Amino acid sequence: MHYEGSCHCGQITFEVEGELEKVMECNCSHCSRKGYLLWFVPLADFTLNSPESALSTYTFNQHVIKHHFCPTCGCAPFGFGADRSGAETAAINVRCLEGVELTNLERVPVDGRAL
Ligand SMILES: [Zn+2]
Repeated sequence: MHYEGSCHCGQITFEVEGELEKVMECNCSHCSRKGYLLWFVPLADFTLNSPESALSTYTFNQHVIKHHFCPTCGCAPFGFGADRSGAETAAINVRCLEGVELTNLERVPVDGRAL
C-alpha cells in the first residue's frame, strides 16, 4: 500500500510504502502527550517530499530518536531512529496519514513509562 501524509498546514508532506496493520500506542510521557499512534517502517520505504528545512526536531533522553514536527502548525507526523539491529527506521504517526481508518488498526500497547 501507498500512503500519503502531511502536517496540518501542509508544510511537511511525505509518502510511505508498506502494509499498515498494527500501530504502537506508548504510554510514555512524550508519546502520550503527542497522541502518537506509531507505525515503524524501514527508512527506505519513507519519502520526504518537503525540504529538510521544513522540519523542526525534538530529542530527549538519549537523543537517538529524532522527533520531527512542523514549526508552523505543531503536528508531529514522524520520527527517525534505528531498530535493535541498528537498521534505520521511520516511525510514522498514522494520525497524519490520508485515508487511514484508525478504528481498523490493531493497537499494540507499549509500556514505555516503565522503561
Ligand atoms: Zn504544518
